[in-house]
Amino acid sequence: MATGSVLRFGAQTDEVTSLLRIVNMVRAGEAATRPEIGRLTGLGRGVVAQRVDQAIEMGYLEDAAFGPSSGGRAPRTLRFRSERGRIVICALGALHIHVGVSDLDGEILAQSHRDWSIARGPADTLTTALEMVDELLSEDDTPVWAVAVGLPGPVDFTTGRPVAPPIMPGWNGFDVRRRFEQRFDAPVWVDNDVNILALGERARRRSAAPDLIYCKIGTGIGAGLLSHGRIHRGANGAAGDIGHVRVADSEHLCRCGKVGCLEAVAGGWALVRDAEAAIAGGATGPLAAQAGRGQAIDPEAISVAAADGDALSISLIQGSARVVGESIAALVNMFNPSVIVIGGAVASAGEVFLAEVRQRVYELSLPLATRDLSIVNSVNDPSAPLHGGVELVQEQLFEATFPRWFADGRPTLAQLTAVG
Ligand SMILES: [Zn+2]
Repeated sequence: MATGSVLRFGAQTDEVTSLLRIVNMVRAGEAATRPEIGRLTGLGRGVVAQRVDQAIEMGYLEDAAFGPSSGGRAPRTLRFRSERGRIVICALGALHIHVGVSDLDGEILAQSHRDWSIARGPADTLTTALEMVDELLSEDDTPVWAVAVGLPGPVDFTTGRPVAPPIMPGWNGFDVRRRFEQRFDAPVWVDNDVNILALGERARRRSAAPDLIYCKIGTGIGAGLLSHGRIHRGANGAAGDIGHVRVADSEHLCRCGKVGCLEAVAGGWALVRDAEAAIAGGATGPLAAQAGRGQAIDPEAISVAAADGDALSISLIQGSARVVGESIAALVNMFNPSVIVIGGAVASAGEVFLAEVRQRVYELSLPLATRDLSIVNSVNDPSAPLHGGVELVQEQLFEATFPRWFADGRPTLAQLTAVG
């Protein structure tokens, strides 16, 4: 590929920069024709034509239908060839595996889901997840360009390894990335599941630079922080791990081994504990009746019962929301987000939870920090972790690492793992 070698030689020249920008403009839908690209970049017609020809030759773009005419000859539209590669997403939760395959534009082409305990350890879990992906790819010969993996615990993003995850015995330091790299011979990014949900929100809102906190109140509790649209991971990947922040006046033992953590008071597993204790102590109502019929109580059951007016469940959900609201208020004062999105099984009780969180946050935060703040429930989309994984891959491929691999026409593991 002659063009590629010339461009590789002049890496990071204006020529390369404008070529990558043009590919990304068409990919993101910012420009669809050569004249539009000219207007947005300020490049002359001849230069635009030349760059577009290079992008076509390298396989990134192709000519599509004629666009609307503005008087003269209608310009040819361009399209990004999203069908050339696949993105694999593997979202692992505490109690499930959710995998998906998308094209390079992020359209989910296939997905599957199964119940699974992450406590079964990395070897069995990843083997099972890879079998699920194989099944999805069984009739698809398109090369996998990249993989996103979400884990329900802190992840060192630079190494792709979990760091002392409280609910994932056996996973500490496991080389998750390597396992997927070996299988797909493609670059792999591993991140905390809440960071991935925060990125999914960014994509859904089509907002380039939100200051947003995604707070997940599920079995455990965690938060993903977007600062001007970028994930704030912190020095070790632990940023936003609010579930293990100490709550005043609590002596509850946490799953992490410490005492008085937020999730030991307000997380889904803590609510199940408290519900069972209340029922054993004689509490009545729909949730107690459900337990009496031998049905297991889980966080979802408590949320559903609260939304249906069960007094015990409402008091548990409101108690959780009050404590969560206090922790979020501290984050609001420190981080000053414009949007807080609340998701997870406990929060799915809806307004019962949200109203209490809002009240605590407005009560305890500085007026300036809440002036333009909105606190909303997440849209209840089961595919949200897949969309977030796609967003992570697109950001890493087409923004962070594009200059390193574009000359090859597709990302390769060798290019992306090369030193420097
Ligand atoms: Zn803890």
